[in-house]
Amino acid sequence: MEMKDVLLNLLLVLSPLLIIQLLYMRKETNKKMKKWLFALLPALAIVFSMQYPFMIDGEFFFDFRRIPYVMGLLYGGYPLGIFLFIVTVGTRVIIGGSGIYPTIVMAGILVLLVPMLSSYYLKSRLRIKLCLVAALVLGSLLFSIIQIEMMYKTAFHPSHYVELIIFHIFAAVIGTILFETIIQNFYLLKRVIKAEKLEVVSHLAASISHEVRNPLTTTKGFLQLLRDDEISREKREEYIKISLDELDRATNIIKDYLTFARPEAEHQHPISIHSELKNCMNVLTPLAQMENVQLEEDFSKEELYVLGDSLKLKQSFINMLKNSIESYSNGGQVQISTQKEGSYVKITITDHGKGMTEDQVLRLGEPYFSTKSNGTGLGMMVTYSIVHSMNGYIKVKSGPGQGSVFQIYLPSLSA
Ligand code: ADP
Ligand code: MG
Repeated sequence: MEMKDVLLNLLLVLSPLLIIQLLYMRKETNKKMKKWLFALLPALAIVFSMQYPFMIDGEFFFDFRRIPYVMGLLYGGYPLGIFLFIVTVGTRVIIGGSGIYPTIVMAGILVLLVPMLSSYYLKSRLRIKLCLVAALVLGSLLFSIIQIEMMYKTAFHPSHYVELIIFHIFAAVIGTILFETIIQNFYLLKRVIKAEKLEVVSHLAASISHEVRNPLTTTKGFLQLLRDDEISREKREEYIKISLDELDRATNIIKDYLTFARPEAEHQHPISIHSELKNCMNVLTPLAQMENVQLEEDFSKEELYVLGDSLKLKQSFINMLKNSIESYSNGGQVQISTQKEGSYVKITITDHGKGMTEDQVLRLGEPYFSTKSNGTGLGMMVTYSIVHSMNGYIKVKSGPGQGSVFQIYLPSLSA
């Protein structure tokens, strides 16, 4: 066995796992691409490992394709399994030569049986997963070796058996551990994303409770005044009207806040952009007032609709508006405008705050990227993932000291 060839093959089989890790976290990668990544990368691993095999006894080609194949069947079940089966057999036919038949038999047996174990496998602990992957890989390896020995009436040297078994166990264990670690990272990130909303919710709660206390104090004052019998009828009416208005204001703030803060339930439905934006502005007004920032709206005359989950959309608007408010140290204005542009609804959020350098704009949406001492660096990441999941995109223009313009494009419903 040529060690160089063995190691190259090993690298080709394992590198797709690292590529998944790299691409999955990028903000440019949307949901559809993620699905394709999980199907294409094991397929590429199989194709490349078959293209660059290593040789045994100067005549038999071997490769590690069993490892991505078995892992694909266990993690992806029948749909991915059938795809990988077609890829394996197709590649084998294109490569040609003898030995096509054993490949088809082996791949066929595996694709029929292994996906049945998939749901059990996914629920198992790491140790059991490792044993299962190693056992299936070794089983198929031994089956192939025996098939070759019978077909060509030859016997491999025992040292080749040992080498092949050791390398396969090594690759299966490393591959499984790598993939499990990657999955755990994704899982962790998902939990962190959930926690991010809590962070915003609790931050807003402070400014909102302040805002609710004011109308309550006003109302209390007027109620005390009303005790006085000497007050004229008109004055009495006026006090009652002011009190009721104040209470309405408090109720509205709390109502809008709660529609944002309630736990998420995903529902796709037509969303009116203007009423969502109004809602977000109500929730953020107390925070803006504390920071001495005015929120100004410049909405298009025609109503604009998009399809999506209104809670999620609100979350992304609030994240961006909050950033714009926070970009000021001494107060200023944040403009929110809407427009129809082709088949898209365009929402523009403009501030004249501290702005960002070119490098910061590029890093926007990267997890944990924050320039604030108390920042999480997750707000924009969540925003990007929400907008991408609605098939929209975001353009950013910014310069240090010049403020920032965020343009959110979402597919319009009425187009
Ligand atoms: P956080 O607000 O917790 O820092 P975000 O993901 O919301 O995290 O934002 C990441 C970083 O992007 C911020 O720390 C800030 O440096 C920059 N940023 C985002 N929006 C703006 C803005 N409107 N003006 C200036 N900088 C911004
Ligand atoms: Mg933020």
